Amino acid sequence: MLKRNYRLHELNESLIDKTVIINGWVDRVRNLGGIIFVWVRDRYGIVQVLFEPETPAYEIAKKLSGEYVIGVEGVVRERPKDAKNIDLASGNIEILAKKVEILAESKTPPIYTNRDEGSEDVRLKYRYLDLRRRTLQSNLIFRHKLVQKTREYLDSLDFLEIETPYLMKSTPEGARNFIVPSRIKRGTFYALPQSPQIFKQLLMIAGFDRYYQIARCFRDEDLRADRQPEFTQIDLEMSFVDQEDVQKTVGNLVKHLFKSVLGKDIGDVPSMQYQTAMELYGSDKPDLRFEMKMENLTSKPFASKLDFLSPRDGEETKMIVVPKNDVLSRKDLDAYSESAKSSNLRLGWAKFHGTNFTGSVGKLLSTLTSDVKVGDDETVILCAGKKHEVSTFLGRVRVEIANKIEIIPQNTFKVLWINDFPMFEWNEEDKRFQAQHHPFTMPYLEDLESKPDDLSKIRAHSYDLVINGWEMGSGSVRIHTRELQERVFKLIGITEEEAKKRFGFFLEAFEYGAPPHAGFAIGVDRLVSVMIGVTSLRDVIAFPKTASGTDLMMDTPSEVSEDQLKELGIKLEDHRS
Ligand code: ASP
Repeated sequence: MLKRNYRLHELNESLIDKTVIINGWVDRVRNLGGIIFVWVRDRYGIVQVLFEPETPAYEIAKKLSGEYVIGVEGVVRERPKDAKNIDLASGNIEILAKKVEILAESKTPPIYTNRDEGSEDVRLKYRYLDLRRRTLQSNLIFRHKLVQKTREYLDSLDFLEIETPYLMKSTPEGARNFIVPSRIKRGTFYALPQSPQIFKQLLMIAGFDRYYQIARCFRDEDLRADRQPEFTQIDLEMSFVDQEDVQKTVGNLVKHLFKSVLGKDIGDVPSMQYQTAMELYGSDKPDLRFEMKMENLTSKPFASKLDFLSPRDGEETKMIVVPKNDVLSRKDLDAYSESAKSSNLRLGWAKFHGTNFTGSVGKLLSTLTSDVKVGDDETVILCAGKKHEVSTFLGRVRVEIANKIEIIPQNTFKVLWINDFPMFEWNEEDKRFQAQHHPFTMPYLEDLESKPDDLSKIRAHSYDLVINGWEMGSGSVRIHTRELQERVFKLIGITEEEAKKRFGFFLEAFEYGAPPHAGFAIGVDRLVSVMIGVTSLRDVIAFPKTASGTDLMMDTPSEVSEDQLKELGIKLEDHRS
């Protein structure tokens, strides 16, 4: 075999007149009749190889086509001046082939490997070919660097990387668990971890003090564009710390990653209260790359003059101002009114022209020009209804419009902490409260004492890291006494008996000297996506699943044999209806 002695990024002018051997895939072939040019590609680069006629190598080169794997021995030479290619790192040189060996042939691939185009389904089916694409290769290389820098950084702070099991017990972290049937103990099941939460807390109890893991997590949730059923976290936990310590450590890690992998200085990471984020941005993951904050009109003296947009009992009226633009049409704005209606909200909009307003509530607002402050040719959108619904609706509209009128600066990173989330949230489907983060989070004890009847008012020592409107990760100070943990379980409807059965081991562990501890987990797939500016997590995961949780290459999930089911003692209901 012609075995390489150079990888393609190593070829440059310093090797002119030297004989080299390279290996790689045929990226493209140009047969000019008398001469054949072949671009050879490997993970590191591309180089042009030239085959002159009437040589043995030329005869073999005639058979080459895309994706053949070859070895080439040849002499490096400078390209003629007019044939230099500034788009290629090796564009000043080429290789004059002396020998060529076909190491593997290739059928015509069903997708382009050197262009970012084509149906995503076919690309996912032939993922190993798609992964030859330069864009995906550089994304995965970026991801690798980020993980390496993470390890280096955390190691320098004495964090220990410790693996935790994949086969565990179902935990109440909010999402549904994937479960795995046990063959040896028929009728029983493992669960795949939603995160290593319980294990990392047990590691604190065991005295490991600073733990981290590049951990795979599994959640059987309805999928969305920014979710995958399995995903990776930089998971960490620390003992003898408070919220500030964890935020400082994680903030510095993220700063270090931006600097060392992307060369970007993100500055200090500011904090915002959850309540403030909801009030101003209608979101617990506000995108601060643009303004368009909400203004609350509820207690303004003119609120009562807003006709159908006046706040009724217990309601709120809020407003956003859209900067001057030519993109947002009457039709777009009317569509928002319609969609507000279907959410039981009332919405009106108007555009200011220096002296008066036009639009769905133009007439009304023209009588209030000294109250509703807005610049020339700017558009106001007012929305009234239930407090939370108004905020989240306008929050969504804010982001949609900002995207539409293209006011979001690219290549800018706005990183912030959101603090003090509510401890509990109402689950409408199950008609009960559940932990907003997870039930191992430390509630504000003063809230627990002063507002025991209204769970929605109890704050938690929990915090999210947000970058450009994406939730990058979550963490919290943890409960570390059995008594409080049992109390929280009870509040979310886990009976004493059930708690004992499911988490007896965990509750017991608190009785043997559990240190105060706190932690965090950063979503690696999301962080990489935001840093390199892609919107789909699939672009940063080697073998991702589709939005419906399918692996199109392996065709999973798929059926298993009758024998396998029998061994497990599982009988399927007829699911073909
Ligand atoms: N286990 C949590 C999660 O996956 C993170 C944490 O609280 O550390 O969201």
